[in-house]
Amino acid sequence: MKISVDFGHCLSGADTGAASQGYREEILTREVGKIVVNLLKKAGHDVLIVSPDSGMTSVSQSLQYRVNKSNNWGADFFVSIHFNSGGGYGTEIYTFNGKIIDRAKKVLDRFTALGYINRGIKDGSQLAVVKGPSCPSMLVECCFIDTNDMERYSSVNMGKIIAEGINGGTIEGSSNNSGGDIMDKNVYVQTKTLDTDGVDGIQVNKYMEKFLNKNFYVKANGSGILFESQYMTLDEANKVKSNLGDEFLHFCFRS
Ligand SMILES: [Zn+2]
Repeated sequence: MKISVDFGHCLSGADTGAASQGYREEILTREVGKIVVNLLKKAGHDVLIVSPDSGMTSVSQSLQYRVNKSNNWGADFFVSIHFNSGGGYGTEIYTFNGKIIDRAKKVLDRFTALGYINRGIKDGSQLAVVKGPSCPSMLVECCFIDTNDMERYSSVNMGKIIAEGINGGTIEGSSNNSGGDIMDKNVYVQTKTLDTDGVDGIQVNKYMEKFLNKNFYVKANGSGILFESQYMTLDEANKVKSNLGDEFLHFCFRS
């Protein structure tokens, strides 16, 4: 089957997503989406990433780009991945006219099993990426970026649920929620954006230990400082997570 995967929003330009608690929607949609892409390929599907990362001058241009790319390719199914905001809780999926399609139902049921509130399958007829594709489409709002929904955030779990929901069955090699064979050695860790407490910088030595003396990258923005590690095994990443305590933000996976 030919499947278009749309990572919600762009990394820069006109169509960036919601941001809260140190998270950015456009990064989360790519973390989850890349796992969806890898697993669907693993299951033998043809997959096309239809989202642009940058260069869009308006939201409508960004949305139309995705729809056109998918329609020109002739996809059989379109999935758009997003995170909600506004202070709510749970998972919801948009389909054309709110039609209860099997894939949407499967995905929603399994998000609910992860502990998320089931907000239902809703009418997405007004959404460009639901009404525009010439094939069936669903837009998944995984959870809320601005509430403690994010405590259960896992790109691995969410990506697996979405991919297997679309596939209609388990995808081999992805059964281990802690990472599985395809993810191991490809984990990196990000900290929360750290407040420098009025000091001009942070004490790097302390973090070298916390990061097991692995390489890490220090990034600053207007609100503080973020650390990102080099790739590690899942075991190492878990050690770094416990070393960081409250400063841990999330794991990212690449394969
Ligand atoms: Zn969004």
